[in-house]
Amino acid sequence: MKKEEQFPDFRTLCDIAKLFASCMNDYLYVMDLTHDVYFITENALNRFALPANTFSDTRNTFRSFVHSEDIDMLLADLDEIISGKKDEHNLKYRWLGVDGYPVWINCRGNLLLTAAGTPHLMFGCINEIGNSQTAADNISGLLGESSLHERIRQLMPSLKEAMFMRLGIDEFKLVNERHGTDYGDFVLREVAACIKRSLGPGQYVYRIVSDEFMVLDLSGANYNEMNRLYHRIRSEVDDLVSREHYKAIYTISAGLVALKDTDGKQHDYTGYSETMKLSEFALSEAKTKGRNQLYFFRQEDYSAFLRRRYLNSCLSQAVSDNFRGFELNFQPLVTTKEEGLYAAEALLRFRTPADELISPIEFIPLLEESSLIIPVGRWIIRNALAFCKTMRERYPKFRVSINLSYIQLLKTALFDDIKGMLDELSLPPDCLITELTESGHLEDSAAVRSVWSKLKAIGVGIALDDFGKGYSNLTNIGNLRPSIIKIDRSFTLKALENSYEFDLLLHIIKLVHNLGLDLVVEGIETSDELARITLLKPDYIQGYYYSKPCTQKEFMNKYKET
Ligand code: C2E
Ligand code: MG
Ligand code: MG
Repeated sequence: MKKEEQFPDFRTLCDIAKLFASCMNDYLYVMDLTHDVYFITENALNRFALPANTFSDTRNTFRSFVHSEDIDMLLADLDEIISGKKDEHNLKYRWLGVDGYPVWINCRGNLLLTAAGTPHLMFGCINEIGNSQTAADNISGLLGESSLHERIRQLMPSLKEAMFMRLGIDEFKLVNERHGTDYGDFVLREVAACIKRSLGPGQYVYRIVSDEFMVLDLSGANYNEMNRLYHRIRSEVDDLVSREHYKAIYTISAGLVALKDTDGKQHDYTGYSETMKLSEFALSEAKTKGRNQLYFFRQEDYSAFLRRRYLNSCLSQAVSDNFRGFELNFQPLVTTKEEGLYAAEALLRFRTPADELISPIEFIPLLEESSLIIPVGRWIIRNALAFCKTMRERYPKFRVSINLSYIQLLKTALFDDIKGMLDELSLPPDCLITELTESGHLEDSAAVRSVWSKLKAIGVGIALDDFGKGYSNLTNIGNLRPSIIKIDRSFTLKALENSYEFDLLLHIIKLVHNLGLDLVVEGIETSDELARITLLKPDYIQGYYYSKPCTQKEFMNKYKET
């Protein structure tokens, strides 16, 4: 605690603070406790939601930018200072940033007294603590993310050519789990050294977060040179693993983002955080593609990733909003014998909130990846069965066919779900057909076979979908023992164009019939196609010739009476 006569007054202290502010990241303040005036250096205006850098009525003004959970603590601390109970302010709490989000700060201050010994001025420093640990990192011995940010800020806007190579240690979590964090720290330090050893002039490395590093290239290196750099780092890391006698086995992946394209075209540099986002994407692509490799950023991949992310968020929102945006369409399956309606295939549709209709070819894999196919699948079964019940009032033998995903078979109690819903609606099991597409590897699964055989045992129809499209294996007819085979449109088209394929289809149909199974030909669009395919004597036809998939209402209008 110092007496005022030895020290400058409020205004002079403010001027001194201004002089220092230009060479520091922290914020200096002076508070006049006698006249209730607060001054903070101007750099704080860019960061915090302050009304001005000098203000009076301090208690009320603090309320406008100090986090509501912290204001009482701050005022209590100031009260203790003003009442002379303590002479030092040292508090960690939150101010609101200009973006409205809380920013952790550490505010320290010293008190100056008047000649009479009463508290008069407080001056001190505010520094951000929420990101201070990112400036430098003692584990790897490298500068941290905020130092990279600072560097880029200094270089912009004259920075025209730069490469950002984000590197990540593969399976680092396992290194920590199996060998402890001390060994993990050792690996981080050694990998940092591997990277440093591999760099040339004009190349710098920073530790970004956890097990990720960023190499900033300002040397004007091209893609080939960066590729060579990556391989140098990779072989250094391989040597490190072998030097350690394979105690822990890990590799290194990297994603490369350039300010300049390979063809010399300049990217629009939209800022540091955008570059960091792109580099994060690039590294995760390298890991998704199998790790231990370098991925060069491509705008097409990123656009596809953003599209998937957008659709994923629309889909999960739709599921939590009572399946709003999903709709089932129905397409008839017609018997060839008397051209009667046999069944309808339920085909899922999805409309985004922006009214864009998305193809199931695009959104079904996303539902599968996120496992949202589980609730959506239940919704499909329930709605398709409800539709079937309504149709049965007119067509007592009407059946509905639904497409199943392997996820539903492997991760849910599908048999119990289906049985429960059939009972709930008092429908017989043979009103339902379940379709499964050959995937090439899951058919052998005992779990899949067990669900299918249980469904079949109670009378649910089992259809092998997309037969003849891409991967097709006759042994699946033996493995899965379906009751129906659905020939895919691509095979149908080939059979219509080419006599060899036509004969092949003829023999498949004979084989299927000899096994006592039914056969559906999909994708018939014209009367000519129908006439030729009918020669093969399939049991059922599905195609635009009879109807495109349509809404429940349209379907019911089309098939009013028996
Ligand atoms: P899929 O099960 O083989 O369904 C038949 C597809 O062929 C449907 O495409 C249908 O609209 C189309 N199609 C039928 N007749 C013709 C025709 O004459 N000409 C042409 N050009 N196309 C015809 P859609 O509705 O786009 O569905 C594509 C695929 O998405 C389906 O193939 C199925 O694998 C999947 N899918 C659709 N709905 C669901 C669902 O509810 N669950 C699951 N897991 N997959 C579904
Ligand atoms: Mg199908
Ligand atoms: Mg099909």
